[in-house]
Amino acid sequence: MSEVPVEDVLAVHQLYGRQSHAIDSGEAARWAATFTPDGEFVSPSYPEPAVGTAALTAFAERFHAGCVESGERLRHVVSTMEVRSGQSGDALRALAYLQIVGTPEGGSPACTGSPCWTTNSRAPRTAGACAAAPCTASPEKQEEKTQMTTLEPTGPGRVLHQPATARYPEMPGKVAVVTGAARGMGARFAAGLATRGVHVVGGDLDAAAMTATADDLTAALAAESIEDKPGRIVASAVDVTRAEDHVALAQRAIDEFGRIDFWVNNAGIFPYAEVPDITPEQIRSTLSVNVEGVLFGAQAAAARMEPGSAIVNMASVSAVRVRKGRAAYCSSKAAVAHLTESLAVELGDQGIRVNAIAPGYIDTEMTRWIQDDAPALAKALDAVPLHRIGSPEEVCSVLLFLLSDSSRYVTGHSLAVDGGSRHV
Ligand code: NAD
Repeated sequence: MSEVPVEDVLAVHQLYGRQSHAIDSGEAARWAATFTPDGEFVSPSYPEPAVGTAALTAFAERFHAGCVESGERLRHVVSTMEVRSGQSGDALRALAYLQIVGTPEGGSPACTGSPCWTTNSRAPRTAGACAAAPCTASPEKQEEKTQMTTLEPTGPGRVLHQPATARYPEMPGKVAVVTGAARGMGARFAAGLATRGVHVVGGDLDAAAMTATADDLTAALAAESIEDKPGRIVASAVDVTRAEDHVALAQRAIDEFGRIDFWVNNAGIFPYAEVPDITPEQIRSTLSVNVEGVLFGAQAAAARMEPGSAIVNMASVSAVRVRKGRAAYCSSKAAVAHLTESLAVELGDQGIRVNAIAPGYIDTEMTRWIQDDAPALAKALDAVPLHRIGSPEEVCSVLLFLLSDSSRYVTGHSLAVDGGSRHV
């Protein structure tokens, strides 16, 4: 077994989150190139460990050819990454285990028997162990396991983008305003709400992108078969640092749809600077967008809302866990969490609930830098108990809950959607 330097271990760790699609789509060489050249890859279904780029490429090609040949649509995820102390010095050893799930083309999910597959926690730990202990589960159990396993994320940074299916019967016909909706989570929120019959006014500083997003989402909704009649999505230009823009945004919702039930203060910026380098302009703009933007939004919303309405603010895990270089951002998000409590206390008199969502690393442009930086990604995922990046969809499902009647006795709460990272 080869000894692997620490930096390569980090590269493997990044791979752990990234290479899953590549074999499936036959891109063996690209897959192997992302693996540390000296790394060792141990698959429970192949007796020989693959070491080095050539062996990894050959392994991936064999794997892909096997899938094609058997007519199976095989999915796989790397189930386990182990980093251990080496035999000599401080060298570390990295092992990755492949977990494979077979889904026959056109058929119901079932264990294919070849190659083997296992659940996460029971993945064989040594090469060949699978052959010694073949899968003997009943077809029902196999199906259950396969469904569980196919829910595993397989995208970059192991992001699970699978749509959440919860529906809220009270939502169709309601009206939401979402700021920062041109992209990222805001765009996902607009889509998630409209899919559930909610009309949406999306506001963004980037007016052109906002219009394009509203058009794209509208076209996508028209193409989907959706249980509830989809809501309409309209675009509006807004700079959340300007109180009067919020007033105009609220008026747009009233003009277009006649009411405002939900308001999502989502727009935000994520500047980087270590404390000595934070400029007055940087701290002012961060507080202005991230904090004043929330306050002005809540003020405009509350002025037009009826009892039973709800506001959700985007805080962050950064409100409770600080990171170097993010002092301005972290303090702005701590302020959002606190402001949410103040708003809840005061707007409770009007029957308006105010909550916050505190996301961890979510797969948007805001965090793209970390997904492109192997050591930073490895470090970040180490501090996430669920060891993956979250998806906008996973934040959206929490947003829907916080806006819905299902949370009608919840106010002044910051709900973490962070894979547990606030505890690490
Ligand atoms: P994003 O950068 O993908 O999108 C933010 C949107 O806000 C952009 O469309 C941008 O144009 C808009 N915006 C910026 N300044 C604005 C202004 N002054 N007026 C109007 N619109 C403005 O961000 P995202 O990742 O989708 O994040 C959404 C929210 O969630 C932000 O408040 C962010 O701080 C918070 N958050 C994100 C993460 C994450 O990992 N992505 C984690 C925790 C919290």
